[in-house]
Amino acid sequence: MASEESWKEKYLRELDEADQRDKQWQAERNVLERMLVRTSLASEGQTPELDSLLTRIRSDLRKQKIDVEAWRTLQDQIDRAITKLDEHDQRTTPDTPHQISTSPAPSSDDTDLAEDGHRLRIARRVGQLLGQLLNQVTLEAEVESQARTLQQTLLSTNDWSILREGLNQVAELVIEAVTRSQREFEVFLKRLDERLETLRQHFSQQSDAQLTRQDDTATLDREIREELGRVSDELLSGQDLQSLKQSVSKRLEFIGGVLERFRSRDAKREAMLAEQLAAMQEKVAAMEAHSEQMQAQVRRERERALTDLLTQLPNREAWQERLAFEYNRWQRYRHPLSMAVIDIDLFKRVNDSYGHKAGDRVLQLVAREMKARLRNTDFIARFGGEEFVLLLPETGLEDARSVVNEFRGHVGKLPFHFGGKRVAITFSAGVSEFRDGDAEDAVFDRADRALYQAKGAGRNQVLVA
Ligand code: GH3
Ligand code: MG
Ligand code: MG
Repeated sequence: MASEESWKEKYLRELDEADQRDKQWQAERNVLERMLVRTSLASEGQTPELDSLLTRIRSDLRKQKIDVEAWRTLQDQIDRAITKLDEHDQRTTPDTPHQISTSPAPSSDDTDLAEDGHRLRIARRVGQLLGQLLNQVTLEAEVESQARTLQQTLLSTNDWSILREGLNQVAELVIEAVTRSQREFEVFLKRLDERLETLRQHFSQQSDAQLTRQDDTATLDREIREELGRVSDELLSGQDLQSLKQSVSKRLEFIGGVLERFRSRDAKREAMLAEQLAAMQEKVAAMEAHSEQMQAQVRRERERALTDLLTQLPNREAWQERLAFEYNRWQRYRHPLSMAVIDIDLFKRVNDSYGHKAGDRVLQLVAREMKARLRNTDFIARFGGEEFVLLLPETGLEDARSVVNEFRGHVGKLPFHFGGKRVAITFSAGVSEFRDGDAEDAVFDRADRALYQAKGAGRNQVLVA
């Protein structure tokens, strides 16, 4: 009896173990399958041939049973496609860095559709960004119109191979815009240099003129003195009155001639100098105007570089600058200084449910509302995505918390409507204050941790570190 019992037990245990092994194997297989799907998706976009092989991997994976023989063949085909790809890469000359693929997109099945949807969203987003970029930079008319066409393509085409080429072109356009502004600056410097050279020439002519005038004056002085000396000698020589008169009037005539010549040379000199002065003033004025334009442009470009396109708030770059400034001031004067990190709650849902455009609009409005409610010594920046950072000088921890909490109350009440439905947008925030011994980053890290505690505690709240 006892032996039968143990046999039964053994059998059940083995059955149990086999079941466990099977489950374990299923779980492992699932993980491997998922990894394979992802890897194959990530490898797409090289050649249409490879893409369609990768698509086959994914559709074969969905079959209940694996046909080992078919997979071997598939693997060989993939190896060949990759070898071809390598050869192709080596052959590609620097003149044709972007191969335009004109063959149709790989055949669609469910996974492809989802993936295509994702890629199309990215392309649309790049299209929108390109639109914003075009509003901000000046391009040559021809390039600008190319860029507009490209933008339309990105926004409306569903053909991935065209989109891929489009994305390459965006990269080229950005490089073009940057090069162009460098070129403009170089042209400006060259012109400035030419004008400075002209000015230098003017100055040297002026001083030449000055020197000849000094020479002429000295000559005039000498000649008049000599003549006057002769007159006085003659007066003393006791000649008769008649010849004395003649001789004196001859000398006076000579002196008159000398004076006349001097005056006419002097007048010519004056006229030339006046002309040069006028030309010079014109040049200086033009130079000033141009350099003001250039300065304004540099200012505008700097502002742009520090401003977030979407929300028009200072961007992360600007934030780092301001943070360094306020940190130095805090180290010196030790007045209270607080920081808040704000992150919109479940923002992904807004995008997923109402579209990326709606998400963008929310970011713009929330940014505008927060900015409008700040004191002008406070500083707010878009840190990235749906995250904002706040610096509050002369504000201690408790005051900072209540400022941010008021923001939270206000933002939560903003009347957002999507598809006719009211949607409340909330945020969570972490607040922290600069403390003795804090390095520049320490406060952000603390505020960020408090933010994540706020998320963990159910969102829509402000916690202090
Ligand atoms: P949580 O409450 O935990 O913060 O959830 P969440 O969904 O806000 O957080 P998660 O970080 O997962 O998602 C942030 C989302 O914000 C994902 C991204 O698509 C979206 N996002 C980031 N930048 C932009 C943008 O410029 N425009 C739009 N529309 N969405 C953006
Ligand atoms: Mg976030
Ligand atoms: Mg968020």
